[in-house]
Parts: sequence; C-alpha cells; structure tokens
Amino acid sequence: MPNVKTIKHQTDQETTKYLKSKGVFEVNMTKEDIAKKIVYSEMIDSHDVETENVLLTSTVERLQEENIIISKTLNRLEEESAMLRELFNSANNELNSLKSPALLVAEVSNIYEDNKAIIKLPNGNKFFCFVSKDAKNIRSGDHVFLDQKSLNVVGRANLVNNGDVEKYINMEKPTQNWKEIGGLVDEIQEIKEVIELPLKKPHLFEKVGIEPPKGILLHGPPGTGKTLLAKAVAHSTNATFIEVVGSELVQKFIGEGAKLVKEIFALARSKAPTIIFIDEIDALASQRMDTGTSGEREVNRTFMQLLAEIDGFKSLDNVKIIGATNRIDILDSAIIRPGRLDRLIEIGLPNEEGRHEILKVHTKRMNLQKVNLKKLATEMEGFTGAEIKAACTESGFFAIREDRDHVTQEDFIVAIEKVRFEEEDEHPGAFG
Ligand code: ATP
Repeated sequence: MPNVKTIKHQTDQETTKYLKSKGVFEVNMTKEDIAKKIVYSEMIDSHDVETENVLLTSTVERLQEENIIISKTLNRLEEESAMLRELFNSANNELNSLKSPALLVAEVSNIYEDNKAIIKLPNGNKFFCFVSKDAKNIRSGDHVFLDQKSLNVVGRANLVNNGDVEKYINMEKPTQNWKEIGGLVDEIQEIKEVIELPLKKPHLFEKVGIEPPKGILLHGPPGTGKTLLAKAVAHSTNATFIEVVGSELVQKFIGEGAKLVKEIFALARSKAPTIIFIDEIDALASQRMDTGTSGEREVNRTFMQLLAEIDGFKSLDNVKIIGATNRIDILDSAIIRPGRLDRLIEIGLPNEEGRHEILKVHTKRMNLQKVNLKKLATEMEGFTGAEIKAACTESGFFAIREDRDHVTQEDFIVAIEKVRFEEEDEHPGAFG
C-alpha cells in the first residue's frame, strides 16, 4: 500500500533539496512548479520511510507555526470582541438612559408611616405621595427625585450638602493690592474706612460706640474695577474672599439658591475674616413685577435668605459683604436699608487723571519708548479700566508683530482704535 500524504505548504529549501535527491521532486523543477505541486494537494507515493519522515516533520513544524499564529490571532480577536462588547453595552446603556424620562427634583416636607410623604415642588405645589423602597432613610428637608407621571419618590437627590458648597463658589486669598488700582482715590479711602478698619481694628469702633456697616454696595459700569477693589480690600485685611455671582445663584442652582446662600454664610463664618463678594447682585435683589411664576418665587426665596443672613450677623463680626451691580436703577431697596448694604459707593468711568493713573499701573512692567502716557489718557476718553488694560496688551501685540522689543506711542494709538472699534461693535453708543 503506498503511503498517501497531502502536502499543503511550501517546504523550506533544505527539504526541497532532500526531496529532489530522493526523486520526489524532479531535479530541474522550478520553485513555481514545486509550489504548484504542493499547493494543489499532491499525492505522494513513497515506500521510503525516511522521505516520509522528513515530509511529516516539516509538515508538523509548519502546522505548529501556523497554530501559534492562529492562536495569537484568536487571542487578538477575542480581545477585540470583548472591547466591542463593552462599547456596545455602554452605548446601549446611554441610549436607554436617554430614552428614560427625566425625574423631578423636590423637597420632602413631611414623612409619614407606610412609606408616604408630603413633598414640595420648586414651584411651591405640595403633593402627598408614595416613597419607593429604593429611596432609603429619607427625612424632612431632604431633596428627592420624583417620577414625572406619578410624582412618587424614586430616590434621594444628593444635592448641595454642607461641605459641598466650596465646589460651587470661588474662594481664594487674593493677591491684588491697593497699588494695582489706578485712580479711585476717594473710593479706596471710603472702602478702607468701612471695611478695612473694622476688620483690622474693631476695638476702635467698640470704644467710640458706633457700628460700622455690615457691607457696601459698589455700583457703576462694567470693567471699572469693582471686583478689583473687593479683592484688594480682602488682601489688605488678609481675609478669605468668597465670590458669588447673583445670576448663577438663581440660574445654575435651581431650587438650591436659598440653601446655598445659607451655606455660603456658614462657610464665611468658619473662614473668617471673610469678604463675601456678590457680583451682579441685581439678579437676586431687583425690584420686579410679582408675576408669581415659579422662577420668580425661587429668586424671592434666595433673596429673602440673603436678607436673613445679613440681618443675622453683627456688624463687628469678621464677615463683610460687598455687593456689586451695573444696574442700581433696578435694585430692590430692601438690600440697601440701614443695617444691610447701606453704604453705596459709585465706581464711575475714570476721568483723564484716573485714566492716566490706570495707564501707569498697566504699563509699569512694559518696555516703553517715547510714550506719552498723559497724551494717551486724553485719547482714551470714555474708556473703562478694563479697556485701558486691553489697549495696553494690544499695543504690546503690535510691537511683537513688528518684531520689536519695545512699545511706541504709535502702537498705543492703533491699539486704542482697535479697542474702541471692538467695543463700539459690541455695545453701539458706548463711547457717546
Ligand atoms: P464687572 O462689572 O464686569 O464685573 P468690574 O467693575 O468688577 O466689572 P473688574 O473686574 O474689577 O471690573 O475690572 C476688570 C479688569 O480691569 C481688572 O482686572 C483690572 O485689570 C482692570 N481695571 C479696572 N479698573 C481698574 C483700575 N481702576 N485700576 C487698574 N486696573 C483696573
């Protein structure tokens, strides 16, 4: 019986040579002929055990190599498939969450037996509803998630908690000092008297028997240095500076504004001496038509909490409030009543001398050549401090563009035009 073997792979050179010598392949066969013979499953009749052995060994070796390659490929494919499965699952989960209806956030007013509770929606409406078993350890005052249709409580909402408040506000120890403020001499003097002095020397006020204001209100156009003044007074008194933006309190933290105000004041007391700077205070404290909408009630609640907090501490406590607004015309007078932010300080547009002083501040570290700051201050009629700073930066860019290491009068002139043009574009009529 002839041995029948199937060779499916090209043999290596030595095997080919050997097989030629044994007459399995003809001596003058080309590589291509051998390949053809092998590829198309050749029947080999051989009684030669040695030849058969060689063939078998080389076939086994090739098969082993192939096996290694196949198992590597298999491993890679398995990894790829696991990755794709994971991707699919996460996309599927996301799709499912996108399809599921949003939940309402409400506050628990009262808890009753048998998993029932009265909950209050942000619009003030109250409902008596069931509490799911998944919503564990719920107490009055907690925030919870409600199913939109049934209004049943489906879980606890961990919103702003004590200690979390720091995540939502800007708290720092500012480095800005009085020297970095140009002009505003009278305003700085007043702030020093009503904020700095009571924080630094409270005994003076105790001796004389007068109460300094709990806070002040800085009002005037944007970019005139209100924030800068508040930071400078925090720096000079080494106070913690907490910055809150009125519009964010009411828009970003819907239903949470009042709670946040309470926690900000608690934090301020724990970090005293502290200056709480409330920018855009008009967003909270503006006279408004009582439309009775839920948004309106929410702003009112936050505002009431603010007034309660201001009323709740003593004027010589180490916490001072500085409010800032560009819209004093719409401000609710309750916030500026005696005992609250009752010192109003107007921070107006700088006059020529003020502009000159601000220019000095912002050009202090600039490399100037033949620059007449006084003349530039005249050119900057109508500019705010922020615009003067922008013009200084722009003039530096013009110098860099022309490959110079110094700034000239001409750079400033072009920069002033640019800033004026951009401002006119954004706020037509800003420069009269
Ligand atoms: P907004 O109402 O927009 O908050 P603001 O009145 O609080 O404005 P700031 O943020 O204090 O204005 O000013 C912006 C920048 O303008 C400051 O960081 C500062 O560089 C510059 N600036 C404004 N006024 C002065 C000034 N009097 N002296 C020096 N720099 C000033």
